[in-house]
Amino acid sequence: MQATCSQWFLDDQSQLYPQAVDVVDHVTHVINNKAWSGTAERHGEVHDPATGKITAMVDFATAKEVDLAVQAAADAFSIWGSTSIAKRTDILFRFRELLSAKRVELARRVSAEHGKVLNDALGEVSRGIEVVEFASGIGQLIKGEFSENVSTGIDSYSIRQPLGVVAGITPFNFPAMVPMWMFPVAIACGNTFVLKPSEKDPSTAVFLAELFAEAGLPEGVFNVVHGDQVAVEAILDHPRVAAVSFVGSTAVARSIYERSAKAGKRVQALGGAKNHMIVMPDADMDVVADAAVNAGYGSAGERCMAISVLVAVGSAGDLIVEKIRERVGHLKVAPSTDPKADMGPLITLEHRDRVASYLDSGVSEGAVLAIDGRQHKIDGEPGGFWLGPSLFDNVEPQMSIYRNEIFGPVLSMLRVADLDEAMELINTNPYGNGAAIFTSDGPTARRFQAEAEAGMIGINLPIPVPVSYYSFGGWNQSLFGDLHIYGPDGVRFYTRAKAVTARWTGIAHKATLAFPTNT
Ligand code: NAD
Repeated sequence: MQATCSQWFLDDQSQLYPQAVDVVDHVTHVINNKAWSGTAERHGEVHDPATGKITAMVDFATAKEVDLAVQAAADAFSIWGSTSIAKRTDILFRFRELLSAKRVELARRVSAEHGKVLNDALGEVSRGIEVVEFASGIGQLIKGEFSENVSTGIDSYSIRQPLGVVAGITPFNFPAMVPMWMFPVAIACGNTFVLKPSEKDPSTAVFLAELFAEAGLPEGVFNVVHGDQVAVEAILDHPRVAAVSFVGSTAVARSIYERSAKAGKRVQALGGAKNHMIVMPDADMDVVADAAVNAGYGSAGERCMAISVLVAVGSAGDLIVEKIRERVGHLKVAPSTDPKADMGPLITLEHRDRVASYLDSGVSEGAVLAIDGRQHKIDGEPGGFWLGPSLFDNVEPQMSIYRNEIFGPVLSMLRVADLDEAMELINTNPYGNGAAIFTSDGPTARRFQAEAEAGMIGINLPIPVPVSYYSFGGWNQSLFGDLHIYGPDGVRFYTRAKAVTARWTGIAHKATLAFPTNT
């Protein structure tokens, strides 16, 4: 499947940090639990963002390879769709155990291609495992309802059935967690799955497929195809694909939603974000600064739930700048192989340059660059895609640094007079993924929870990613579709309901054209 030679050298203090990174030189599709053996027409380069070096070439699928994967999934569905819940969950339990045993290896793979520090990668792996645990309880989640004697001798009940072949298209920033928001729930529900992970860090998905196969998953139930727009469009246009889950940027999410819906598919398309964190003057400013640094610069700001906008109410602003500056001074920007690294590089050179360009445009539009990430000490190779943490103060709503999703380690702070003004900012923003408030006042927090136009709310915490038994999803341009992802909405998305009305007794032999009523 891949050329790997996982010889990791563990340091003395912990079992986590390798001193050398393997090269995965060829990543290809996984169809029917096997590496695809064909020759790809096109490839993509995979980089180690910490060095800038190419570490792998990934095969890009054409419509032909996508069709192979979808056909494999369609064939598998004929059996998997009616496999007992007990057998399905048994495999999920084993998958969960393997994931748990291999979580460090999985996290290293995430770090090697994404660049995020190992603790962060371990965090995403464990949040993904949470969803597998949730999906393992599918017997409880998929239960229907039953009403006896809705009419004399007639019972009514509901059942939820799988859709068939479903597909997931995922972004680069959580190569383990975001696919695991989708496929464990879909497969637990009885569907078969085709995953198209990001071409920028594709090998984590392959590793997940290997582990699932090792757990006993039958051939064709979980397939991985790599590629770009060509592969995605082949998935969207394939008549056997019944539903599409997408996570990525808003422009692509919107087009995926429109194209899938036009083809009659069920679709949930999660898009970008501009998450605001309101700071009331009564908040604990040390807690605020810790939260802003964590949620603004963690994973180099490449999180859809990152805080990118601080809204300082009243007198809060000066203290926030001072306390963030103090903390940023201690952040170590270094490769994930450094056990002391707090923040890694950005995903590609183009993205790094795009994020850095906002530092110039913010200044030219009149914002104050209170912390310039280009000056931050970098403990990494010069070829890496590095940029230190930055903070803009005195940002105004019309500035491009406020309007656009930057998706990098750049915090923008706006200063407002009161909560009304702060709420207005959130509620007129086109995105609506998450929003947070820091305050010591209950009624203020309660008003915020009720009125904020966002799908996920944090109160005195900055990254309110719901646990796996709730569902994840934004509002407005952060989600196109009706149902959120994983949790109870995930089960609804990957199943369709059927209502059955049955009579086994008192059947009268009398033909009538009257509309049936309950008696
Ligand atoms: P992206 O939209 O560029 O890519 C996402 C996926 O779509 C990838 O698999 C990619 O190959 C594919 N793709 C890219 N362009 C396409 C096109 N024109 N047509 C069809 N498919 C295409 O996103 P990204 O850069 O990988 O990830 C970052 C973005 O994802 C950010 O905007 C971030 O906010 C968002 N994101 C959102 C959530 C959420 O839950 N709302 C979670 C994670 C990331």
